[in-house]
Amino acid sequence: MKYLSTRGNSPSRSFTEILLAGLAPDGGLYLPEIYPRITRSELTEWRPLSYPALASRVLGKFIGDMPSDDLKQLLDRTYTASVYCNGRAGSDAGEIAPLRTLEPGLHLLELSNGPTLAFKDMAMQLLGNLFEYVLDKGHAELNILGATSGDTGSSAEYAMRGKRGIRVFMLSPQGKMSRFQTAQMFSLQDANIFNIAVQGVFDDCQDIVKAVSNDHAFKDQFKIGTVNSINWARVAAQVVYYFKGYFAATRSNDEQADFSVPSGNFGNICAGHIARMMGLPIRRLILATNENDVLDEFFRTGLYRPRATTQTFQTSSPSMDISKASNFERFVFDLVGRDAATMRELWGRVDSGGAFDLSQSTHFARIADYGFVSGTSSHADRLATIRRSWEQYGVMIDTHTADGLKVGLEHRQPGAPLVCLETALPVKFEETIREALGREPERPAGLTGIEDLPQRFEVMPADARAVKDFIAGHAT
Ligand SMILES: *Cc1c(COP(=O)(O)O)cnc(C)c1O
Repeated sequence: MKYLSTRGNSPSRSFTEILLAGLAPDGGLYLPEIYPRITRSELTEWRPLSYPALASRVLGKFIGDMPSDDLKQLLDRTYTASVYCNGRAGSDAGEIAPLRTLEPGLHLLELSNGPTLAFKDMAMQLLGNLFEYVLDKGHAELNILGATSGDTGSSAEYAMRGKRGIRVFMLSPQGKMSRFQTAQMFSLQDANIFNIAVQGVFDDCQDIVKAVSNDHAFKDQFKIGTVNSINWARVAAQVVYYFKGYFAATRSNDEQADFSVPSGNFGNICAGHIARMMGLPIRRLILATNENDVLDEFFRTGLYRPRATTQTFQTSSPSMDISKASNFERFVFDLVGRDAATMRELWGRVDSGGAFDLSQSTHFARIADYGFVSGTSSHADRLATIRRSWEQYGVMIDTHTADGLKVGLEHRQPGAPLVCLETALPVKFEETIREALGREPERPAGLTGIEDLPQRFEVMPADARAVKDFIAGHAT
């Protein structure tokens, strides 16, 4: 299995070669040269498998340059009950990505039982183990530099803590994360984790990461890498739970299932698209956005119009507050028939702050073949959906999952079960839960009082120089 770039001007690479890379050298994103097709007999064989066994089958299709025994061992270590025990302790405690039935034909796929209570752990935990494996083989080191407004940073830190050869330098806007999220990150005492509280906003943090990454001499000298959502291994890891959700929600491989996915950077739902291209019987992929509706607009009209960051609304589902969906390029590559010249033209416009309109193209006319439908959700919708889930089903859901459930229900049709992906636990967004339900969300046992633990972080001005000096002083 080799990987090519959506812009067509980079040599093809193997899985482990692109593991530590971000963008391809030509500015595109990596994708498999062809999607592996799953046969009927494979589906039958995979249906009863445990999560790690299923992961080794699915990921084995994408990873051509790692001995399968090593991969299997690594997956057994990654997807183990002791890592995914942070969620609600119930009858399915210890199961990886359990399916919770709300009513017949309507389900939640629980993806938030990992250490940071968000679905990002499902992929990031694997990334941590893969990085360590590959660095170990090459006797190499890596300094991960990132910017976070909450979920990604903590997920990355919990995945990389204590890993040989890896340090994490995570920038966050000082005083802008919730107390819970701040405590999750800053209470880590591992020597390889560095939290940097930047005196500025999230965009300042991201600008610093860009500035440091664009200093190629510095980047090479200090082996700077990233773990952002365009990383191919993260997308691949997410493909696995679509198989898991499909098997859990259906009884035979003659059935289809619909999936509803709260979307920001298009990473999660891109994995669903890939699972569908592999032949998993997914009828529809229902994309939900919040008030930041760039992606909904595209799927309804064919117009892709990324917003300026100043036009991005701050909402009560903050992990979906994006102006430009970084993984969307992967889907459009397939939509335009994998034509790299078209991609260079379309993204030439996007990269210079523009838009593109496919409404008149023959490609967009075939969009239904890809199974996508979409919708949006507002703050009021979120509150109503959180209430409905609590009152009707006794299940407390977070704000992002509520966006997915709201739009999913709007598109619900007979003939296939609807699986809504849960992307975080309600405890991460306490304020909105209180507003919706007038009560506190439940807190997993291990996390009571984390706000009172000692915190370890550096405060720094919004200045790339200061961050570089800090990295230089700590990266050896
Ligand atoms: C990151 C995140 C999302 C958005 O996922 P994408 O892969 O960026 O589409 C949704 N909900 C939560 C809770 C998240 O952390």
